[in-house]
Amino acid sequence: MAALMEEREIREEDAWKSTFRELGVTDVLCDACEQLGWKQPTKIQIETIPIALQGRDIIGLAETGSGKTGAFALPILQALLETPQRLFALVLTPTRELAFQISEQFEALGSSIGIKTAVIVGGIDMMSQALTLAKKPHIVIATPGRLIDHLENTKGFTLKMLKYLVMDEADRILNMDFETEMDKILKVISRDRKTFLFSATMTKKVQKLQRAALKDPVKCAVSSKYQTVEKLQQFYVFIPSKFKDSYLVYVLNELAGNSFMIFCSTCNNTQRVALLLRNLGFTAISLHGQMSQNKRLGALNKFKAKSRTILLATDVASRGLDIPHVDVVINFDIPTHSKDYIHRVGRTARAGRSGKAITFVTQYDVELFQRIEHLIGKKLPAFPTQEEEVMMLNERVSEAQRFARVELRELGERKKRPLEFITQDTEDSLVMRKKVAGGKLKRKAR
Ligand code: AMP
Repeated sequence: MAALMEEREIREEDAWKSTFRELGVTDVLCDACEQLGWKQPTKIQIETIPIALQGRDIIGLAETGSGKTGAFALPILQALLETPQRLFALVLTPTRELAFQISEQFEALGSSIGIKTAVIVGGIDMMSQALTLAKKPHIVIATPGRLIDHLENTKGFTLKMLKYLVMDEADRILNMDFETEMDKILKVISRDRKTFLFSATMTKKVQKLQRAALKDPVKCAVSSKYQTVEKLQQFYVFIPSKFKDSYLVYVLNELAGNSFMIFCSTCNNTQRVALLLRNLGFTAISLHGQMSQNKRLGALNKFKAKSRTILLATDVASRGLDIPHVDVVINFDIPTHSKDYIHRVGRTARAGRSGKAITFVTQYDVELFQRIEHLIGKKLPAFPTQEEEVMMLNERVSEAQRFARVELRELGERKKRPLEFITQDTEDSLVMRKKVAGGKLKRKAR
């Protein structure tokens, strides 16, 4: 079936020529796009919207930041306008943050037509979600596990009449062993529905899924090979592993005035580096999978509101998060799966803006780095650094490292105590106490 699938790929010169109206989008939704400042459709929107409006199933392959959400939200809202119905569409996503973000775009595009959405994700009270579902929203945006909880336990909630199913970040839904959940969901939702499957990268498992769930789909690709967006400047820095922290501080100083997302491989390292940077006077905050849902959203909101300029994250944040003002992505720990590189650097240079990505390569990472270069099909230039200046930072950085270690230990011990709930603010005040106690530690970022 895959061999016979209709495939479409837009030509570079045809992109950016169309208007939403020319794609067949109805006036009220064109107005909504205009209000959001979407002057023209993006490439993936140009390709998918007309096909979706014809009622075809779609496999959309598009890089992050390409406007994927609009590509599926607009046709769904248009169909909803034509035949209004409650519990009309289900969007499945692998992460909770992504679910909230997708619902924000649906609400923004559909505000003038009064659409109601419900976000059904883990980490939030089941009862209040059940009440929201009882009101029968038009669009449900969910992570698979929690949706199944409701399908099995919430009286009166069914998706038998569903008209649209979207799987966003579809390869991840499968990679993260959501396969059994997906099988359960597919069994209880209407067969008479349209299915859109969106993913930045395509795995064999996605091909497996398309057999199970799609009817005669059209494959729409913005680019057939893995590409990073054109306005993204990518660099590497080759450094000895023991000086990683000093190089990080050097790069942050060199590019001061920008907003940064720094990717680390473990939750512990995001916390350690966040504490280290805060000890040096940077406004850094961490986001990782061991934080409660409230803390994750809180961290993200502080960063979005620009009260923090540096977000330290594990790969939980590498996909799909819509953080419009990230200027620089730093791969402090190189990604072990090369495809994660594409997702991480996709946090910058979004929707036509420019951005930088800098990957730290130590003596242990050379092979992984070569794999990344192979995947993106180009050799990256070195980011210019002055070794002497970096070495001058060593003393201050080692002092901050010592403080960070102590603080991490204290946080760990506090978390072990029962009934104690440590918020991000408690972390902040802990750092503040140290700063006051340590006196001279705080250093202003240039
Ligand atoms: P997405 O790939 O869906 O995560 O979208 C990335 C960002 O692009 C979001 O902030 C959208 O609001 C924005 N966006 C989507 N479509 C357009 C468009 N046609 N013009 C400008 N911005 C857009």
